[in-house]
Formats: sequence, structure tokens, C-alpha cells
Amino acid sequence: MISQNALHHAEKCRFCWMCRHLCPVQHQTGREVNTPRAKGLLLSMANKGTQPFDKDMAQAMYECLLCDACTNDCATGYQPPLFIREARTEAVVNELAPEAVMKLIDNALETGNIYGVEKPSYGQDGTDVLVYIGEVAAIQVPQMAKNLLAVLKKAGVSAKVLANEPASGVMLGDLMGYTEEVRQQAKACADAINAAGLPVVVLDSYDAEIMKQKYPEWGCEIKTDVTTATAYVAKLIASGKLEAKAGTGVQGACHDDDRLARTFHEFAPIRAMAKAAGYEVGEMFSREKLAKSCGTAVAYGYMPALVEKIAASRWEDLKRSGCAAMLTASPQAYLCLSLCVPEGKALVDLYAALV
Ligand code: SF4
Ligand code: SF4
Repeated sequence: MISQNALHHAEKCRFCWMCRHLCPVQHQTGREVNTPRAKGLLLSMANKGTQPFDKDMAQAMYECLLCDACTNDCATGYQPPLFIREARTEAVVNELAPEAVMKLIDNALETGNIYGVEKPSYGQDGTDVLVYIGEVAAIQVPQMAKNLLAVLKKAGVSAKVLANEPASGVMLGDLMGYTEEVRQQAKACADAINAAGLPVVVLDSYDAEIMKQKYPEWGCEIKTDVTTATAYVAKLIASGKLEAKAGTGVQGACHDDDRLARTFHEFAPIRAMAKAAGYEVGEMFSREKLAKSCGTAVAYGYMPALVEKIAASRWEDLKRSGCAAMLTASPQAYLCLSLCVPEGKALVDLYAALV
């Protein structure tokens, strides 16, 4: 059952084309169904009974990165991801979601991560901060997790990592909407973090988003400070605890990942990290709140070919900027961008560059 609030947003979007040029999925597929407007129209038609909510409609609702570029540009404050997420719940409940999506959901429910494997342990027992690694870094981009821990060590920060880090709920929430299963994952995660009693440094901005925005709404607030790893490391640099490195002579551009850019409006820390790592900081035309998505780990899980095209398009942005390196501190961005690094360009993990 789609909420009245979500339907209100869908009804407003269905006649509007004003943000279609910003949708990274529509850019790559060129299909009308991939505009935010079309998804609003589909949901409106399903609600009015003029079109069945069938597998094709469900498929359309999954051809979206939940990147919020549409929301960010909307002069009238409408939010396509709000109704797209609820449409995903509808698809799952009615067994209409694509098979590849259901596989990820089953994995997340059975093992706590979309990969369906045992999450490696980065367990360490420091006393200053608790680092939340997240499933994407832990399983797919482990070097970034290790590099963040090495940066903290270098700055004299004693970090703890939970031995059995629970899922934050963000992956499941993106796959099936904010259902009871997601709230249960959130509560278990908040309980484990609160038991540690330390300020939390969150490596993946996707995890940080759900912790800071949804946990309080669901009554499972984290009782200590929750900080993105980028903001935390930038503070270490500003305070002199982490020394700047010598210049590399390389010009790099920072990729602002979707949720840092549009949920947190956090742009300065990653650039401070880039400068401290010795890069000359250039810029891509599409940046900060307007940064184009390069894909997400969850979307890569069920539509890898499309995500690779979306990542390749972000590399085209870098080529146009004239910079030699794409700089990122996001495990999800690193995962997607690493699929198609163009010849002569470098993908840089900023934590590695700061060690
Ligand atoms: S989000 Fe705003 S700009 Fe985009 S389709 Fe909806 S109403 Fe139009
Ligand atoms: S959230 Fe992103 S991918 Fe989804 S419709 Fe909006 S702009 Fe397109």
C-alpha cells in the first residue's frame, strides 16, 4: 500500500519534466521510463487502476539509484525517491521485484549483507572512537577499510571496530523500502553501537545517512556523536594530528558521492583530505550538490552492466576536467569507479593517499 504522502509526490512529478536532464539512469538508457516523471506517472496510473502494477513497472522502479539528483534540483520540493522506495516495497510484497533484487534481499535477511557471505572481521579494541566499516567496504573494498584504520592510527586515534558488526539497514532499505525488517536491522545495529559507548566514525556515507536520519525517527537513536569518516579525518588534518604530505604534482578532482553531496551537503572535508594528500585540487563541472552519481553498490548488485556505464560517464566528466586522478573516500564510489578506469587516469583512495 503506497502512502498518501508518496502518492502526493508521484502526482506532482507525473506532469513535470524539469529534472529529467539530471537523472544518471536516463542519461545512459535514453528511455522515457527512466525519467523521474515517468515513474510518478506509472505509480499514479497503478493507483487509479488504469495500469496494473506488474513486473515491468516493478523493474522500472529498480532502474533508479536513489541518488536524489532529482530531489535536489526540484524547485517545488518534491522527492521521487520517496515514492520509488515505497513502490519497491509494493513490488517485494507482491512478488514482482526482479529476481536479481530478490537474491540480494534474501542474502541481506539471511546473512546481514547483500553479498551472502560472512562479513570479515576488522575487530580491534581501541578506546577513542568506534569505526563503523559497513558491508561494502568490509567485503568489496577492504583496502579502504584498512587504510582508514591506518590513517587513524597514524594520527594517534585509538579505534575500536565491532567484531561482529551488524548491518545498518541501509542496503535493505534501498532494496525494499523502510519495512519492519529494516527497522529491526537498524535497532540491532544501534544497540550494538550504543553498547560500545564511543563516538562513531562511519566510513560509508550510506550507512551514516540511515543512522543520522532514520534511526532517530524509528526510536533507535545512537546516543553518541555520529560523524562521517571524511569529516573526522578532515578535523584531524585541521588540528595538526595528521600531517599534510608533500605535493604529488598531480591534479585530481574529488568525486562527491550521492549521499555526502545531497544528504549531508558535505564538500569541504574530502577536498581538505585531497590537499593534505598532496594533490592539486581541480574540479569536475558536475560537483558538490550537483555531482553526477557514479552508481551504487546495491544497484551494481542487480544491474551491473548499467552501473558500469554510469561509472564510465563519470570518468568522462573527469576527462573533461583535465585532471589526471579521480579522488574518492567513498567505498561505494570506489567500487563503481574501479569497474572502468580509463587509460592514463588514476582512481585514488584518499585514505590510502594519507597513510
Ligand atoms: S522532482 Fe520536482 S522537478 Fe523532478 S519531476 Fe518531480 S516535481 Fe518535477
Ligand atoms: S533518484 Fe537519481 S536515479 Fe532515481 S530518478 Fe532521481 S535522478 Fe534518477
